[in-house]
Amino acid sequence: TSTSEPIRLEDWVRDIPNFPQEGVLFKDITPLLQDPKAFHVAMDRLAAHYAGAGIEAVVGVESRGFIFGAPLAYLLNCGFVPVRKFGKLPFETVSVEYALEYGTNVVELHTDAIKPGQRVLIVDDLLATGGTVSASIELVEKMGGHVAGIAFLVELGFLKGRERLQGHDVFALIQY
Ligand code: AMP
Repeated sequence: TSTSEPIRLEDWVRDIPNFPQEGVLFKDITPLLQDPKAFHVAMDRLAAHYAGAGIEAVVGVESRGFIFGAPLAYLLNCGFVPVRKFGKLPFETVSVEYALEYGTNVVELHTDAIKPGQRVLIVDDLLATGGTVSASIELVEKMGGHVAGIAFLVELGFLKGRERLQGHDVFALIQY
């Protein structure tokens, strides 16, 4: 094939049936990360989408949100802020608890990470039900930040996560 053929990013996402449990079709983004061209194109497309959007900070959601969030912050010339699972951040934190299929989870943000009114872009690898990202929105808003956008590599449209994120600007590079 010619090198000028446009990359189809979905060709670099691998389906793993029944992982991490029976009935789940896991979208594995590691082939895309491993391929220099595909990774480059994915990052460039994300950066192009937010060029001129006045993003002042990128918030990456642990852990695959870090992989895409940090290079995106670099490309957009702004800082990177991690949202981490409970107990990982060393400084003073703000926390949000959210429901999982079984039980609950707590995510945290450093209290000095987001400035009031700051325009924040939240990044994760994949949008499923939207529960994980909703907790990150809550954290950013608790700190007075403005969620200017939410970016994903992959969106599982049939799970209707976008409906849960209503009122926010949601963008994904790949839709299923
Ligand atoms: P949710 O909170 O339901 O939107 O789930 C999103 C989080 O779970 C993301 O951080 C994903 O990395 C992970 N996730 C959920 N479903 C899948 C899936 N089918 N394939 C890969 N990752 C998934």
